[in-house]
Amino acid sequence: MARLKIDPDVQFIKELQAAGGESLKKCYQCATCSVVCPLSPEENPFPRKEMIWAQWGLKDKLVNDIDIWLCHNCGECSDLCPRGASPGDVLAALRNMAYRSLAKPAIIGKWMSSSRYLPILFAIPAIIYFIIWGFTTGLSIPDGPIEYGKVFPGDYTIDPIFGLAALFVLFTFATAIGNLFRSFKESGLTPGEDAPGFWKALIDVIKEEIITHKKFQDCVSNAERYKGHLYIFYGFVALGIVTSIVAVGHWGGLLIGHQLHTPLSLWNPIKILANIGAIALLVGLTLITRMRLNADPSKTTTSYYDWYLLGVIWAIAITGTLSELLRLANVPGLAYPVYYLHLISVFMMIAYLPWSKLAHLVYRTVALAYARQVGRKGPGE
Ligand code: SF4
Ligand code: SF4
Repeated sequence: MARLKIDPDVQFIKELQAAGGESLKKCYQCATCSVVCPLSPEENPFPRKEMIWAQWGLKDKLVNDIDIWLCHNCGECSDLCPRGASPGDVLAALRNMAYRSLAKPAIIGKWMSSSRYLPILFAIPAIIYFIIWGFTTGLSIPDGPIEYGKVFPGDYTIDPIFGLAALFVLFTFATAIGNLFRSFKESGLTPGEDAPGFWKALIDVIKEEIITHKKFQDCVSNAERYKGHLYIFYGFVALGIVTSIVAVGHWGGLLIGHQLHTPLSLWNPIKILANIGAIALLVGLTLITRMRLNADPSKTTTSYYDWYLLGVIWAIAITGTLSELLRLANVPGLAYPVYYLHLISVFMMIAYLPWSKLAHLVYRTVALAYARQVGRKGPGE
């Protein structure tokens, strides 16, 4: 009989446990998780096989596994696991590790993996905006009506910094997606000749799954997470539309000699959309944070990646709302420092995006499109 030699990567197991999969050793392979998962394909289902690969430290199999992206972390399997092995969290931990290995430079992924490095991530934007404040007003609070542009001129500081950060993020995502596709191919998944084209599959995924959050609805055990995720998603969509309109109106307006200037009046439709987006974000954050705080620790764990993302989005929402309220209430001594913190928190979300949990929005979306191309489908699809 042929013998199969298994060469476990012990370091990988330790890293996986540290990334949120500490319960993986409890699994005794009953397969309940694969049976109850509403998204798992009938053929070669997940997450039981990932649990045994993780226990054996089969890093090569796990890093190339498309199924970790098909999981939507609904927690159904973790709720019903008789051993408290939290398979949903183990898959989430595998995704956390994938953010680190897909996106380069890897050092940022390392900084995103532990609270130990949080001061570095905070210090980078804090120093940049501190220097700008020093240049514009000598670190003092300007006189007259509150206009954040007096301290942080949009045209010369905020737009170029965030423009460069956005280009950096786009380039990083493009190379990371290339790495992701290479890893799928290494696992033997290649689209057949009659497979739909990637862009068609991608548009179908966005239309049929992302916009409707259909796969989240398939998970019945965690309705609060579905609602919270939906609010946060549409909050970001609204704020993304507002940012795009303001950027195009401001810079595109140069061409026609009629630029859009901020701050906008409270009754401007763009401002109304921004405020609706901010409220949606706050509602979604409240739901998700409450769910995380009330979670049964014997069934699920909340990793540092979860708390980092929640913390940064909370910081953006609170400092953004306070910046507006303090400006309206004309309290310059607080308004400018709060706006400074707001810029830092926005930078911490945007510039480190490809290594954060929010990156699943990009990686999972393209993985779902690839899964359609290779015919990896869930039940009933
Ligand atoms: S993770 Fe839990 S439900 Fe899944 S195979 Fe292991 S013990 Fe069974
Ligand atoms: S968390 Fe939900 S989607 Fe992910 S494996 Fe478990 S049951 Fe399936």
